[in-house]
Amino acid sequence: MTELERKRDRAPIPAEWAYAPAPESREVVTLRERYGHFIGGEWVEPKETYVTIEPASEEPLAEVGQATDAEVEQAVAAARAAYENGWSSLAGSERAKYLFRIARILQERSREFAVLESLNGGKPIRESRDVDLPLAAAHFFYYAGWADKLEYAFPNRKPKPLGVAGQIIPWNFPLLMLAWKLAPALAAGNTVVLKPAETTPLSALLFCDVLRQAELPAGVVNIMTGDGRAGAALVKSEVDKVAFTGSTEVGKAIARELAGTGKKLTLELGGKAANVIFDDAALDQAVEGIVNGIYFNQGHVCCAGSRLLVQESVYEDVIAKLKRRLTTLRVGDPLDKNTDVGAINSKAQLEKIQELVQSGEEEGAAIYQPPCRLPEKGYWFVPTVFTDVAQSYRIAQEEIFGPVLSVLTFRTPDEAVEKANNTPYGLSAGVWTEKGSRILSMAQRLRAGVIWANTYNRFDPASPFGGYKESGFGREGGLHGLEPYLDFE
Ligand code: NAD
Repeated sequence: MTELERKRDRAPIPAEWAYAPAPESREVVTLRERYGHFIGGEWVEPKETYVTIEPASEEPLAEVGQATDAEVEQAVAAARAAYENGWSSLAGSERAKYLFRIARILQERSREFAVLESLNGGKPIRESRDVDLPLAAAHFFYYAGWADKLEYAFPNRKPKPLGVAGQIIPWNFPLLMLAWKLAPALAAGNTVVLKPAETTPLSALLFCDVLRQAELPAGVVNIMTGDGRAGAALVKSEVDKVAFTGSTEVGKAIARELAGTGKKLTLELGGKAANVIFDDAALDQAVEGIVNGIYFNQGHVCCAGSRLLVQESVYEDVIAKLKRRLTTLRVGDPLDKNTDVGAINSKAQLEKIQELVQSGEEEGAAIYQPPCRLPEKGYWFVPTVFTDVAQSYRIAQEEIFGPVLSVLTFRTPDEAVEKANNTPYGLSAGVWTEKGSRILSMAQRLRAGVIWANTYNRFDPASPFGGYKESGFGREGGLHGLEPYLDFE
């Protein structure tokens, strides 16, 4: 056979490569029909309930409690009793033992938790499996390590626990936010009442199983579910400290409520981060960073790189690469292992995104959305890029909390800093350049709690996270994350 004949003989090369479905099994998690509140180590039958759904299908998943004021008080009383009856005086090494156990059980049951997180929250299984679960376990491991070393962590300051912490978390990283809150509080010797967000209560409720498996003493962690009314009741209750992660609006209301009460407060609020691309950056790498910065977790990320600042000389190039990359993002079933962008968490959030996107079009920005077929049921939004955005537009100022990127340009580093800082928020930022000196100078001038260089959305339990300005105060992660749970002499 001649060379030519051999070539002709080859099978034809397919014109298009499509991914076959690769669904994760939802059978690995067993849900009850109805959940109560977890108070004093027991399930307490709730007085009022509501139904939590799967945002990708709008199908009901389970009935859960809407905590009443009396139930909140009951949970706080259980936490107080557990604090006074042993937990606060337990040796640090004993507390560490429980935290290590929780971390290991989370690792062992990570597949089950990842599936549940994707079912109830809408996030792609690839992210819950590879990000949320490993990081949640890592937080427990990390703070377990500090529990018996507080005297060394804060030398000559005689650290003591505060008492009962009331913790309120959002729906974008339900289990991870739970870990961020519980691990330092328990390591420091406090007891806790935690309220997950109303749309994503299930992983926190399954976590109660982990607490039992770890044989954590009853009442050390109490979990009650419900919407903002339950959160407001927890803020007003007899807790010693409130830790809140959520919107700036609710954060401000909580700050007003607690002013003058002497209760400690930390607030992790919204963001509108600038992701700044200089012309000497590795552009293909930067485009991956842009995509990861804004489309990770459907853009439901407080530190999302939602404002892209591109140096003018590479603008055309970056936008062309970005648009090309967007056409390869797979939007759809959160439980499919190939999915890049899952479902929007709730109808209310979808409507908020739609409203802000409409305002962007009305104000004059140019919209780009790749061709994309969305499932018929459930809440979905196509990954979106806005160009021709002026700084005054709402899409450049307000947190969209969805897969929507606003692109602005700059000529000089000074202009980049000025534009990046021109927002009421100050949670995070990204800088892309090959020059180390430029990274350092930008990091000094950007008013943001977290600044990533040549990467984005990277988290580590040892690294403090938190904001400036309307993004809140207090830090979570690292040694900084222990301080808000301790009193010093
Ligand atoms: P949200 O403020 O509406 O709700 C957050 C939590 O607060 C929920 O559990 C909710 O039930 C509760 N809540 C609502 N009203 C309350 C009240 N009056 N008193 C007490 N609790 C109340 O926010 P959300 O829509 O769930 O979450 C999205 C927001 O969270 C975004 O703005 C995002 O940027 C922010 N967020 C910040 C961080 C961070 O670390 N800075 C992390 C994740 C999310």
